[in-house]
Amino acid sequence: MRALIQDWPLLCHKILDYAAIQHGAREVVSRSVEGPIVRTTYAEIRTRALKVRARLVADGFERDDRIATLAWNTSRHVEAWYGIMGAGMICHTLNPRLFAEQLAWIMNDADDRMVFVDLTFVPLMEKIAPLVPGLKRIVVLTDAAHMPETTLPGAVAYEDWIAGAASGLDWFAAAETDAVALCYTSGTTGNPKGVLYSHRSNVLHAMMVTRPDAMEISSRDTVMPVVPMFHANAWGIAHAAPMAGAKLVMPGGRMDGEAIWELLDSERVTLTAAVPTVWLMLLDYLRKTGKTLPWLKRVVIGGSASPRAMTMAFEQEYDVEVIHAWGMTEMSPVGSLATMKPETADLKGEVLYDLKQKQGVAPFGVEMKLVDDNEQGLGWDGRTFGRLKVRGMAVASSYYGGAGADAFDSEGWFETGDVAHIDRHGYMQITDRAKDVIKSGGEWISTIDLENLAVAHPDVAEAAVIGVTDPKWDERPLLIVVAREGSKPDAATILKFMEGKIAKWWIPEKVVFIDDIPHTATGKINKIALRKMFSDQSEGPATLPIASVAKPI
Ligand code: ADP
Repeated sequence: MRALIQDWPLLCHKILDYAAIQHGAREVVSRSVEGPIVRTTYAEIRTRALKVRARLVADGFERDDRIATLAWNTSRHVEAWYGIMGAGMICHTLNPRLFAEQLAWIMNDADDRMVFVDLTFVPLMEKIAPLVPGLKRIVVLTDAAHMPETTLPGAVAYEDWIAGAASGLDWFAAAETDAVALCYTSGTTGNPKGVLYSHRSNVLHAMMVTRPDAMEISSRDTVMPVVPMFHANAWGIAHAAPMAGAKLVMPGGRMDGEAIWELLDSERVTLTAAVPTVWLMLLDYLRKTGKTLPWLKRVVIGGSASPRAMTMAFEQEYDVEVIHAWGMTEMSPVGSLATMKPETADLKGEVLYDLKQKQGVAPFGVEMKLVDDNEQGLGWDGRTFGRLKVRGMAVASSYYGGAGADAFDSEGWFETGDVAHIDRHGYMQITDRAKDVIKSGGEWISTIDLENLAVAHPDVAEAAVIGVTDPKWDERPLLIVVAREGSKPDAATILKFMEGKIAKWWIPEKVVFIDDIPHTATGKINKIALRKMFSDQSEGPATLPIASVAKPI
């Protein structure tokens, strides 16, 4: 029997409709790429997104055309993103931390027809555009006064471009299962792979992250996603904030500690989210200046494991609750959040921080399981680790173009590539990426645990652990350390510090000091680059392969 309830499709642009109707005057504040702070509202963003939609149609773009963005988090990017999605087209966010050749490869794979590009990335796009023959239009996200001299063919300023849009055209009547957005994984192994989201998966994912046991976003919040819209959809916040009617603060291109603090303070941000490298810069700035975080209530940390010392600094020194989260581009991206259950709500001191080291609990809509190498399910005892598999309402069912099919099994489980354990309360902890785990004497050593322990040493700013070949044990951990500014720790002190805090045989024999740890385009420690640097053993860095080094986001 069919239910007698309306088929009200879950469409991304309905989120913006709702925000404009119920929270129309709520501010969206951006640090513009041109420099000044710019203020607008959800109502205004909706009006302009509809102009984007109308102008796309006037320019001859059609349903399902892939329209790319190469842009920071700003209100113009939000307008373009909703305008594309509401036009029945597919919004393809590009990660500007990648190299021109990689971006050209991705744009050709996606068959992008048009791109919105920020001023910052015009020089990058000048290198890419000649390599992407399918590109029909380039719009620079600025006004005529700031339009640069450029070799980009037919480039036009965004403000001029939408000024010519007809009014009165409503959103495209899409089905909720239609594709609406495309985002590529960073492709640390092999070529990048495209994840193609639907209206439905984006809306359900946004509902999931706003919930109290997730990011707990309400209309009383002011939310600043420092995590870029091009890094796995700003972890859903560009949909979740307007869905909740929360004030939105967009940090633009400046991610340094001072710039982030300024916005947190002047806009009274209550919730923010980013990868650990961003918080490293903010905490450093706070310590140097004595500044505090009086308005901030919660910080979501994910993308890489939040070091215990970072979690403790936010909670104990600045009275900000840390929500440790885990996810993947393939999961839209949120897969788990370490928020409290009644069973854990009373934990205090070290036991609480043991819990907050975990990546947390799967919310409704995400299912998890652990399997061994024979695909046998493993128990949830908080110790036994295995390969983590997931499925759910916003998890990819395959990659765009059919790449990487072996990551999906016949029962719909997706192989995350992560190794984890889950405790009896359902808290999952990642011990490693499967390809980073160190196998020493037949046993596994978690590089994440070692890194977290090393950064708890007061003289250590950042640490990475990789496996190096060992004639006796196959592999042994090598600890790579960036010293905190102004301090000169030696290897022996750091290794001594680890004693008693971790199994003795996990402790590395060697420590090397370098000035900078390379990061991937999504802000993770670039272990491939480190392995190349230190593959000739651990005495000192070989030449750094430039092509694999990207700055943290
Ligand atoms: P990419 O693979 O493109 O760099 P993703 O953000 O999709 O970008 O990466 C997902 C991976 O990041 C996960 O599979 C996991 O290995 C790692 N990751 C994400 N969040 C955490 C976390 N909180 N702790 C440890 N690892 C994490």
